[in-house]
Amino acid sequence: MDEKVKELLERVRGTAGDTARAAGRMAGQMVDVAKLNVQLFDLNGEYNDVLRQLGQVMVDTHHGQSEDPEKVAALLERADETAERAAELKARIADLRQSQTCPACGAPCGKGDKFCRACGRQL
Ligand SMILES: [Zn+2]
Repeated sequence: MDEKVKELLERVRGTAGDTARAAGRMAGQMVDVAKLNVQLFDLNGEYNDVLRQLGQVMVDTHHGQSEDPEKVAALLERADETAERAAELKARIADLRQSQTCPACGAPCGKGDKFCRACGRQL
């Protein structure tokens, strides 16, 4: 085989290998993002459940039923914990997607963006 053809084939194979590896890496990141999104979905469900229970406490109190203050404190603590974990997950997802979240309005922006695409705030 012609040396130049051989070299060309090797180069193409090498590039193809890199492309496949890069695609694999990207697919891996997408799987991670999908997994994190499922966790985030579950966390949001948990958070809504805590809020529902807190709402029930309000209604019960309104109807003159005295609630256990420790139970209320525990629910509030769980609400804080869940919201904190959700914020961590959102940050990890944004990181994997190579994006950032606007600190002013929460809109997703590109990592290299200088200004928010939604509200125009400097990032
Ligand atoms: Zn914004």
